[in-house]
Parts: sequence; structure tokens; C-alpha cells
Amino acid sequence: MNGTIYVDNNATTRVAPEVLEAMLPYFSDFYGNPSSMHTFGGSVGSKVREARAQVARLLGALPEEILFTSCGTESDSTAIYAAVRANPEKKHIITTRVEHPAVKNLVEHLGKNGYRVTFVPVDRNGRLDLETLYRSLSDETAIVSVMWANNETGTVFPVEEIARKVNARGIVFHTDAVQAVGKIPINLADSAINMLSLSGHKLHAPKGIGVLYLRKGTKYAPFLMGGHQEGGRRAGTENTASIIGMGRAAQLAIDSMQDENTRVKALRDKLESELLKRVPASMVNGDPENRLPNTTSIAFEYVEGEAILLLMDQHGICASSGSACTSGSLEPSHVLRAMGVPFTAAHGSIRYSLSIYNTEEEIDFIIEKMPPIIERLRQMSPFWQQAQRA
Ligand code: PLP
Repeated sequence: MNGTIYVDNNATTRVAPEVLEAMLPYFSDFYGNPSSMHTFGGSVGSKVREARAQVARLLGALPEEILFTSCGTESDSTAIYAAVRANPEKKHIITTRVEHPAVKNLVEHLGKNGYRVTFVPVDRNGRLDLETLYRSLSDETAIVSVMWANNETGTVFPVEEIARKVNARGIVFHTDAVQAVGKIPINLADSAINMLSLSGHKLHAPKGIGVLYLRKGTKYAPFLMGGHQEGGRRAGTENTASIIGMGRAAQLAIDSMQDENTRVKALRDKLESELLKRVPASMVNGDPENRLPNTTSIAFEYVEGEAILLLMDQHGICASSGSACTSGSLEPSHVLRAMGVPFTAAHGSIRYSLSIYNTEEEIDFIIEKMPPIIERLRQMSPFWQQAQRA
């Protein structure tokens, strides 16, 4: 098989050809400022309104509840800062131990600057300890932020149920839905979620465009201050081409949801079950039931994830490992550590994340190439030899 086999779609996705086509005229022909008074700018403004409505439709939201941002990280920061600044007397934040750094690093920073932070733990399957979460709610709590789906394991959290309980206490609920949107159906029309973050580049729109859903009536303070764009809620001249691409991608996500949850899921299941069958001492990280349809994180015990990735790369296969390079040493990710995945397994964890563009032929190719890669590395692994002797 020639070329690249891309199963790293939780890292980023290919821009859909339909999205690129929709965007191109807005770089060259229709470059007006959507806030301008003239017809030339105004025509871009109406395309931005159309994109807002398309994103709203994907989420079951109202167009005026959609704010365009620059990325998922900006949406997360805006949401959390909005809640803490709109409720200055409240000095407690609740989140989970497995959030993306976009939330984790911000709340850790707030934790060092006058806030008390509760990090809700997860169990061995990555499921949230809901009892601890509910017990931690107090009149001091400014915001609860729980991701909809985990980027490493694909585990899906019951955010709608959590939001209802949190809202009933009059507390703001935010969800980082960067990995969930476009992969599983989301309908905010009758949910209690106050704020939701998403990122264009995870659903076949370009990098550099994000969305913050802000439920009508939620107390809010803008993060970026300046011009009156986005109804005064997010200043800065609109990234018009990318906004229009985001709208088209939202429309495509509605159309491909069925494919994602049937064909893509079947490919993921095939990849997972065949690898577990063919590679001894391998196991899945994450909740086997509540999981994104496109993601599997598989631990190949006693080998190093980075070494696996290098050998996969020689076959053109792109995936991610469950390690993060911290101060020059490879540490298992905070997510796998929070789940209590043993070191020998966490180190050899590989995340495969599929998209609608993957084919069965590609999955068969990966299934064929992985067992000899793991076998070869285990021959060189003193830990594997030791485990075999034990
Ligand atoms: N949240 C989650 C769960 C993610 O997976 C990511 C990106 O990987 C982000 C937030 C950050 O999104 P962005 O890269 O658009 O800033």
C-alpha cells in the first residue's frame, strides 16, 4: 500500500474538499469586512450568518448562542474565565483528572491564584466518579467543567445528566466537546449545558477556527475585549473564510453522522478486535461501552509507544502514543495515569482515531503490519523477556 494511512484524526483532520471549495472565494473575491456598511462587506456578513445557523443546527442551538473563536483552547479559556469573572465571589472550580491541557492547565493556574479546584477522579475504565463530583458542589462553586469525550481513550461522559444536577444548584456547567462534536449526536435544545467548546480542525474544517456555544441567559464576561464583533462577546475581525468553512463542515457532519456511527465504528471495532486477537498481552484503555465510534486506545505491554510509532511511520501509518514528552523523559499521559493503567501498559499505548475517509483496505493493512512490529520490539525488550520468564 502506498502513501499515508492516517488514523490520527483526534489530533487533527483533513479539510474536507467541500469545505475548502466553500472557503476559497472568501480569500480572493469576497474579502470584505463583514462589519462594513457597503454591500461588498455585507455579502460576506450574510455568509457568516449562514455559517452561524449551520453550526447552530449541528448543536440544536440558536444562532445567537454561537460565538466564533480561534480554536478549542480559546473557547475553553473563554468559558472558564467567563464563569469565574461573572461570579467573582465564588472561588471553587470542579473539573476532572482527565481533561485536555486546554482546561487542565488553566484550572491548575487558577488553583495557584486563589481558587480551590476539585479534580474528580476516574476509575480503571476511565469512568467518572460522579458521587465525588456531586458531593463537591457547593455555594462557592463558580463552574463545573467536564469534557464530553476524552481525546485519548474516546470515553464519553454523561455530561447532560451532570449538567442537569449542576444547574439545579444554580451553578454554571461547561463542557469541552472538541472530540464529541461531529462524532456523536448532540442536541442542546433541551439540555442544561451552559457553555460548550468545539474546534473546527477536529471535524474537517481548517485549523484556527473554534466555536463557543453560550446558552442564552448565562452570565458572561468577554475574554477578548475590543470591537463589537460577535455581539460584543468576542472582539476581533472575523476569520471569515474559516467561519464559512466551519459552517460547511457542520453541515457535512450532520450528513455523515450515520456513516461515522456505523461504517467507521465497524472499522474501529474490526481493528480493535483483530489486534487484541493477534497480539498477546494487549488490551483496550477506556470504557468499552460509552466510547466515541472512531477511537481505540490499545496498550501493547512491555514496549515503548514512541518506538511503535516510529516503526508504524515506516509503513506510512500515522497514529499517536499515550506518552507525553515532559522534561526530556517519556511519561505516560496524565489520562492513563489517572485511570491507573500500569506503567508497562501505559508506556506502550497507541491511539488509533479514524475518520469517514478511512477505508477497510487501510484497516486491513494496519492489522497486518502491527503484530510483527510489536513482536520485533518485544524481542528487544528486557521487560518482555523478564515477564516471559516470570
Ligand atoms: N480539547 C480537547 C478534548 C482536544 O482534544 C483538543 C485538541 O486536541 C483541544 C481541546 C484543543 O483544541 P485546539 O487545538 O483547537 O485548540
